[in-house]
Amino acid sequence: MQYDIEADWHLLNTCNYRCGYCFFTADTLGDKLQMHASPQQWQSAFDATDFTWLLHMTGGEPSIYPLFAELCEALTKRHFISMNSNLSRPLQSFVERVDPSRVSFINAGFHFEERERRSGNAVFLENARLLQSKGFPLLVSIVATPSALARFEEAADILAQAGIVPIPKILRGSYNGQRFPEAYTEPDRDRFRKFAALAQESYREMLNTSGHPSIDMFGDIHLLYGEPSFTGQLCEAGRRFVNIGPKGDVIRCGGPTVYGNVLAGTFKRAKRAKPCNTGGCIYFCQKYTSGPSGPQETRSGFFDWVADVIGTAKHPV
Ligand code: SF4
Ligand code: SF4
Repeated sequence: MQYDIEADWHLLNTCNYRCGYCFFTADTLGDKLQMHASPQQWQSAFDATDFTWLLHMTGGEPSIYPLFAELCEALTKRHFISMNSNLSRPLQSFVERVDPSRVSFINAGFHFEERERRSGNAVFLENARLLQSKGFPLLVSIVATPSALARFEEAADILAQAGIVPIPKILRGSYNGQRFPEAYTEPDRDRFRKFAALAQESYREMLNTSGHPSIDMFGDIHLLYGEPSFTGQLCEAGRRFVNIGPKGDVIRCGGPTVYGNVLAGTFKRAKRAKPCNTGGCIYFCQKYTSGPSGPQETRSGFFDWVADVIGTAKHPV
């Protein structure tokens, strides 16, 4: 998959779920659905940059965006996409319109406890089977709250009906009055490692064939004691990676640097890697932080560095 630049595209705030660990408040998730451009306008705007993009669509829940399948179809004529989704909406039109070879990965969050409140398992399994049967690269993850870790085998049994092994995704930030991942207990961490090892084995062939996804949860076992700071590290964000907002505004990742607006035709990327001066998503920090071998080759070096900085032993996967 050859692309010039990757974007973490925050397509919308709105979501039909209310997971307790979501980064967004219930008010934000309840935002009225808004479309700031038609699929063809988005397509023309990205084409006009003269770059080939890998657009990671996230939210909120991307699949509830109006004309979502049409948007993905239009974008994938020239660009590549990936996405986070709760797989709660029918995806028939998406699989009919989109070429799976233009999709880097779909990270499907199996929000186990939220689904119990909404009876959402059947539609999730149906969508998962459909995506797999059409050849879309599907990763299924479970946000590893302590209670989700305690019931992980229950969730795994449900997903086994579609031949899926779930990947535990590290819980980051504030949850139930505690700060994670620091608040994990040792039994939580042991459970996490055990389930991560099962997932690594299950996805081995996909990882060998397609490489690691940008949202690389397989490295989360190295973050069980805390996240490293990237401040001052040389990073390609701004040049090979940016963050795009719902209206097309482009920032480095967490700001403050602004690189114009894609829809307005004013996007200009940075000319070179620069030291990290902001905060962003750990997965993109890992991917775009420069090291001795360049941004794509630093993963193992990065984790050695993480282990040094936070004083944890590396655990075999
Ligand atoms: S499905 Fe995702 S965006 Fe929606 S509430 Fe849950 S974590 Fe938040
Ligand atoms: S290291 Fe992370 S937070 Fe810092 S500039 Fe790069 S992507 Fe952004």
